[in-house]
Amino acid sequence: MSSPVWHPFTQHGLEEAIPEIVSASGAWLDCADGTRLLDGISSWWVITHGHCEPRIAAAIAEQAGQLDQMIFAGYTHPQAEALARSLVALTPGLDHVFFSDSGSTAVEVALKMALGHWHNRGEARHRILVLEHSYHGDTIGAMSVGARSVFNRAYEPLLFDVATVPFPAERAQQDCLDALEQLCRAPDKPAAFIVEPLILGAGGMLVYSPDILRQMAAICAQHDVLFVADEVMTGWGRTGTLFACEQAGVTPDLMCLAKGLTGGAVPLAATLASAAIFESHRSNDRARMFFHSSSFTANPICCAAANANLDIWREEDVLGRVDALGAALDEGLSQFAAHSRLHNARRIGAIGAIDLRAGDSGYLSDVAPKLRASALSEGLLLRPLGNTIYLMPPYCTTPAEIARAFAAIGNAIDALTG
Ligand SMILES: *Cc1c(COP(=O)(O)O)cnc(C)c1O
Repeated sequence: MSSPVWHPFTQHGLEEAIPEIVSASGAWLDCADGTRLLDGISSWWVITHGHCEPRIAAAIAEQAGQLDQMIFAGYTHPQAEALARSLVALTPGLDHVFFSDSGSTAVEVALKMALGHWHNRGEARHRILVLEHSYHGDTIGAMSVGARSVFNRAYEPLLFDVATVPFPAERAQQDCLDALEQLCRAPDKPAAFIVEPLILGAGGMLVYSPDILRQMAAICAQHDVLFVADEVMTGWGRTGTLFACEQAGVTPDLMCLAKGLTGGAVPLAATLASAAIFESHRSNDRARMFFHSSSFTANPICCAAANANLDIWREEDVLGRVDALGAALDEGLSQFAAHSRLHNARRIGAIGAIDLRAGDSGYLSDVAPKLRASALSEGLLLRPLGNTIYLMPPYCTTPAEIARAFAAIGNAIDALTG
């Protein structure tokens, strides 16, 4: 049956099967054909507690019957006010909250705030520093600060120039810090440095230490370059703390949140800003206001879902679940320790990853789609990044389900390598 739907990151010319999901609960997705899939990647990194979490679903239903949508320019509503207060209370040093709809827009907003900050202060600073292998979203600005690759080759001439700091790989940590320092000192002063704290997700689940994160933030602070933490993937417990920056004791000037902000149920994003950045836009001159909005800014239903998510964080031992999940991931990864085709096992919080030794490890190699198809036939939703196989399951996933996921991964690798 042909469909008019054009799917994201999908090559329709390859005619790979597109399963239809009709319902979900906990860590499981139910397919139209009656089979069930274990959601090994939290439906692309968004679901935190589990699918159709009852408190979040109830909050959505209640809000949908009370106030669905309203203009947020010049008007406000109780759900947004409560949510903003809660977010500020959770992030010392960040006093203002700007809402949008996706991780990409949260990043665009952060970049525009950084540029607006220097513009309003009368300093010409336009350069953005980025970390090698980064991913910050798929809109033009977010792509500009992300790694250049086959993903954005067609648009590359229109992406703005950035200066790239090498990734702090194990033996190249000082190179990374030195390069950052040099760029911060340059006469062409940068406006901001944007990073994914502790782990680069789409870049291949590349981890680096809290100490490096702390030193990167310190260099920026020393040179008065804004430090932007893109916690779109790392936020909401994924790395073992509510936010990854906490592990380094780092207070960014701007922080981007999305994905798990609503527990993953509905789209909502927030860019948190320091008082200094807010103050550089506040004035009796309308030309200095922050020129950004989207139709669904701070949608009340989405804000209600986020408030319900925050209630769960306040009242339940979410990090205890993340720890237990982490232990189960360690256990599963340890089974692959002696596997001749696998190496570089790593785990942070509720994310476990391992690399497959394969000839061609690029995104376009056949390895990832073959593993994906093989796992699918085993009842596991997996989406390897090139030759990097990872699990990032919802926090409700049990050790038995994790063991099952690793068994499916083992079988998928055997099927691939023969
Ligand atoms: C997913 C992701 C984004 C983009 O979020 P969308 O909601 O998909 O636009 C930005 N930054 C990071 C680190 C991400 O993982």
